[in-house]
Amino acid sequence: MADDGRLAAGGESAGELVKGLRENYYSGRTKTYKWRAAQLKGILKMIDEKEEEIMAALFEDLSKPKLESFAHEISLARSACVLALKELHRWMKPEKVSSMLSVFPSSAEIVTEPLGLVLVISAWNYPFLLAIDPVIGAISAGNTVVLKPSEISPSTSALFARLLPDYVDGSCIKVVEGSIPETTALLEQKWDKILYTGNARVGRIIMSAAAKYLTPVILELGGKCPVVVDSDVNLNVTSKRIAVGKWGSNNGQACIAPDYIITTKSFAPKLAEALKITLEKFYGEDPLKSEDLARVVNSNHFARLTKLLDDEKLSGKIVHGGMKDEKNLKIAPTLLLDVPHDSLIMEEEIFGPLLPIITVDNIEKCFDLINSKPKPLAAYLFTKNKKLEEKFVKDVSSGGMLINDTALHFANPNFPFGGVGESGMGSYHAKFSFDAFSHKKAVLHRSFAGEVSARYPPYTTKKQKF
Ligand code: NAD
Repeated sequence: MADDGRLAAGGESAGELVKGLRENYYSGRTKTYKWRAAQLKGILKMIDEKEEEIMAALFEDLSKPKLESFAHEISLARSACVLALKELHRWMKPEKVSSMLSVFPSSAEIVTEPLGLVLVISAWNYPFLLAIDPVIGAISAGNTVVLKPSEISPSTSALFARLLPDYVDGSCIKVVEGSIPETTALLEQKWDKILYTGNARVGRIIMSAAAKYLTPVILELGGKCPVVVDSDVNLNVTSKRIAVGKWGSNNGQACIAPDYIITTKSFAPKLAEALKITLEKFYGEDPLKSEDLARVVNSNHFARLTKLLDDEKLSGKIVHGGMKDEKNLKIAPTLLLDVPHDSLIMEEEIFGPLLPIITVDNIEKCFDLINSKPKPLAAYLFTKNKKLEEKFVKDVSSGGMLINDTALHFANPNFPFGGVGESGMGSYHAKFSFDAFSHKKAVLHRSFAGEVSARYPPYTTKKQKF
C-alpha cells in the first residue's frame, strides 16, 4: 500500500473505492437480472478461457496436483456459476405468502433485495474457489463486491487482479490485492456484509471492525475436525476415504480435512496398518517425490508443522511418514499413534499432512472427547452401527457432518456450508449464498378498502369490549 493510503500504485484509497462503489450501487444497475446474469456469464467465460492459467497459478502457489485444482476448485466454481445462472430468475422472484384476515383485503410478499456493498476476504488454501464462490453469491444477489484475495497465495491473487476486470463490470466488482495494511484500510470502511475465510484470530479482528457500522459478517473459520472410526467398518474403504480427505485435500491444508482420528485401543493398530498400506499405494515409497501431493504453502507453515512434530510428547509416536524436505516445503503424510491428549498437536488445528490417532477404551467415549473441544467445522464417523450414527448426528455439534466418508459434503449445493461456534458463523453456497447476501423484505400491500373503525382512537368502552 502506498504511504498516502492508496491501495495500489496510481490507484485509489479505500475510502474513494467504497464511495465509488456506493454511487454505482445506487445507480440501481446491479439490481437488475440483466446485470447479474451478465457478470455470472463473464465469470463462466473467464473460467472456461483461462483454465490453464488458473491451474498454473494454483501450482505456483501450492504445487497443487492438476486433478485437485480441477476437481476441488475450478469445476466447483464453474458449477456454482452455472447453477446461479440457471436458478437466478427463480431466486429473485418475490415469494407470495398468505396475509392475515384482519387486514383484508391485502396481499403479502417477501421481496429479496441486495444488501449493497460486499467485502470478500479469502484464504490461501483453496485460493481460487474460496475467493470466486462468495463473489458469485454476492453478484447473484445484486451487490457490488470487493474481493481481497490472500497474499499467501500471490499467484492466484495476481491472477484475479489481472483477469477479473476483463470479464466483469469493473466499476462494481473490484479486486484489491494486499496484506494486513490493505485489509485494515478496507475494514475501516462501511460495508453491508463481509465474508471472511481464514483463522479465528483474524475472524475476531474482522468482527470488531464490522461492529463499528453494525455490518453483518459471515466467518468461515476452521478447527479440529474429528474422525471417529468404529471397529465394525470396512477397513479398506475407510482407510482410502480418510486418506483422500486428508492428504488428497491439499495435503491436509483444508478446513474440512480430518484433523485427528478417535478409535478404540484394540482397533487402532489395525486401522494404522490399513492407512499405511493405503498411503503406500497412493503416494509410493518416497512420498516426498510424489506429484500427487501439494506442498506446504510457505516456510512459516513448514516451521509451524515441524514444531508440532518435534513436541517431545510425540517421541516414538510416528508410525508412518515423518520425512521432510525443507527446501521444497514438502512433508510426507505422517501417521501418529496413541497421541497424548495434552500434546501440542491436539491443541491447535493441524492444517497439514500430520494425522494423530487418539485411542479410547470404548467408542462411546468419543462424545466426551469431541464435546470437550470447540465445535468443529466438520465431524466424520465411520461405522455400521445405526445407533451410534444416530447418537453422533444428535450429540455432536459441528458445521457439517459426514457418515462413512470425508469432505464430500462440501460439494453438495443443496447444503449450506459454514461453521458453528468457534468454527464460524453464517453459511453460503448456491441458494444459501444468494440468501446470505440478500435482505428478505416483508412487504404488505393494501388498498384503501377494508376500514375497521375499532382500530382507531378514541378507544371507547364499546370498542374495548369488541
Ligand atoms: P490467510 O493467512 O490467507 O488469511 C485469510 C485472510 O485474512 C487473508 O486475505 C489475509 O490477508 C487476511 N488477514 C490476515 N491477517 C489479517 C489481519 N490482521 N487483519 C485483517 N486481515 C487479515 O489464511 P489463514 O488464516 O492461514 O487460513 C487458514 C485458516 O482458515 C484455517 O483455520 C482454516 O481452517 C480456515 N479456513 C476455513 C475455510 C472455511 O471455508 N471455513 C476455508 C479455508 C480455510
